[in-house]
Amino acid sequence: MVVFSELWLSTGKNYYTADRPLQLFLKYIGFKGDEDLHRLGHYVSTKMMETSYWIDRYARPTLRKWGTTGHEVNYVQVSHDHLLTLYDLFNFGVVSKSLNNGKNLTYHFVSGYIISDAGIFCTITVTEQTAYALMKYGDEELRDRFLPYFLRQERPWMGATFYTETSAGSDLGSIETVAEMNRGRWRLRGLKYFTSNVGLADAAIVTAKPVQAASGAKGVATFFATARRDDGSPNWRVLRLKEKLGTNTVPTGEVELQDAEAYPLGALGHGIYVALEVLTIARIDNSIAGLGLARKALWEAALYGSQRRAFGKRLIEHPLYLRDLVEMESRLQANLLLSLVAAKAFNDAADEVPPYSGSYHYARLLTHVTKNMAAWTSIELTRYAMELMGGIGFLEEFPMAKIHRDSLVTAIWEGTSNVQSLDLAEVFFRKGIGELLMEELGARISALEDREVRDSLSEMFESEVKSVIGTAIAEGAELHAKYLLERLGLLLSSLHYQRWAEHASRETGENWPLALSKVYLYSAVMKRNVSSGLVRQAGEGLSWIFDS
Ligand SMILES: Cc1cc2nc3c(=O)[nH]c(=O)nc-3n(C[C@H](O)[C@H](O)[C@H](O)COP(=O)(O)OP(=O)(O)OC[C@H]3O[C@@H](n4cnc5c(N)ncnc54)[C@H](O)[C@@H]3O)c2cc1C
Repeated sequence: MVVFSELWLSTGKNYYTADRPLQLFLKYIGFKGDEDLHRLGHYVSTKMMETSYWIDRYARPTLRKWGTTGHEVNYVQVSHDHLLTLYDLFNFGVVSKSLNNGKNLTYHFVSGYIISDAGIFCTITVTEQTAYALMKYGDEELRDRFLPYFLRQERPWMGATFYTETSAGSDLGSIETVAEMNRGRWRLRGLKYFTSNVGLADAAIVTAKPVQAASGAKGVATFFATARRDDGSPNWRVLRLKEKLGTNTVPTGEVELQDAEAYPLGALGHGIYVALEVLTIARIDNSIAGLGLARKALWEAALYGSQRRAFGKRLIEHPLYLRDLVEMESRLQANLLLSLVAAKAFNDAADEVPPYSGSYHYARLLTHVTKNMAAWTSIELTRYAMELMGGIGFLEEFPMAKIHRDSLVTAIWEGTSNVQSLDLAEVFFRKGIGELLMEELGARISALEDREVRDSLSEMFESEVKSVIGTAIAEGAELHAKYLLERLGLLLSSLHYQRWAEHASRETGENWPLALSKVYLYSAVMKRNVSSGLVRQAGEGLSWIFDS
């Protein structure tokens, strides 16, 4: 019998335990996995990949607007396998373990890297966001009533985030959805233009402006609303589902709120902070899961290259092909480590409420940097991995095309690169985190052991980062914010990666971590050539792909 592994070579590999760099990074940041993550790594590779590929091609969610007697039902139909896959994933604890007594958000973030499918994981992200906001900002009565539904084993509730409107996406403060107190309860009226997981979601976080609220972002309040009213009737109408280039494993629709029943999350005046805090979770998810897509693409290309022959030998025996793989691996690792550092920083600050301390703002700063860089890394690595598989990479018959299509949204949703830049400028200059970061960067660079790396990063810090900060202060931050975001991304990622490599080389006695870190510095940061010796040494860091 021909099986799926004929189409997808990494089928059967454990996406958690076999991924050696991931294991080393998790140990480095002090995260302990468990048997469920182990089982998840196997489940995704053996069952979920094939199911999500099938949904994407042949079983996309469909809106059934009307019931048999002509009444409006707003039923978003997904295949039975789709639903079962989601429940299987929830049963690995990808939401519940992050919210139960230990409150380990890092567990959820790591699961994103393993699952990575942008549509499927979108369902998990919006559910995590909804349950997190309910647990942290819902009053006791609301929490007691609804949180158990999200944590239960049997068919747990799913969530959604309704922020974007026709005239308000990046500009969250210009929403037109109105919240009004009517007969003792809040009711929302408005149209939400992008609503992922609609139809599957039992509840959502919704942004709206109370009548007579302040204008702009300050007037935004954040609410929890269930898909059904207390009397069982629908709390919102699904107007249509979007036709998308990717993420077809999650329905995304337009929703009309007609006096939808809702409950405030936190103080009304703090709504924008709640909305942004919850968005930060999605941004970290987006970084890590986007890199999960890149990992799968790279894994696949490397396996293809180890089997396919051209010019008399296997592709990976050609120096140029190996160099491609090594450069991609170094970018993936440097980005993944930085995303995990951001995830841990957010996890550690997650008990804070507005007004937040410097630790929370620092985590947010890292999130803007990594959201932007990881998204572009995901897009570029999945595209180049296609090329490394030649014509096969371009065919929709194989899952690689879906992986690249899915990666494209990672730069757009949860805020585009310009939005990350502007948010970074806000936290850097207005929350005073810039000074703290500058001090920390200076100290960390000086502590590096490798002189060449230390000097290169020090030069970059002085001539690129410090100089753009000076210009931004003199001319205003907006125009320079993206340059700052990108330079900080390169500097922070190479700094953390080098520190990790020095530590890992000591721990394992192997040379590849230092070699890969140097390849990253040369090829991604300094745009310099690399020697054949360095490529060979760094190439040892890929051996787990072929051995696992
Ligand atoms: C598949 C998919 C699923 C989604 N799911 C959801 C969901 O579940 N819930 C939800 O609320 N939203 C969702 N969204 C919406 C998404 O978050 C927004 O599309 C995104 O935030 C961008 O907003 P926008 O589309 O209004 O673009 P716009 O705000 O119109 O931006 C257009 C362009 O202008 C740029 N721009 C905007 N302002 C500035 C500025 N001040 N300076 C410089 N450049 C600027 C942006 O960077 C962007 O490139 C989804 C989107 C997609 C594609």
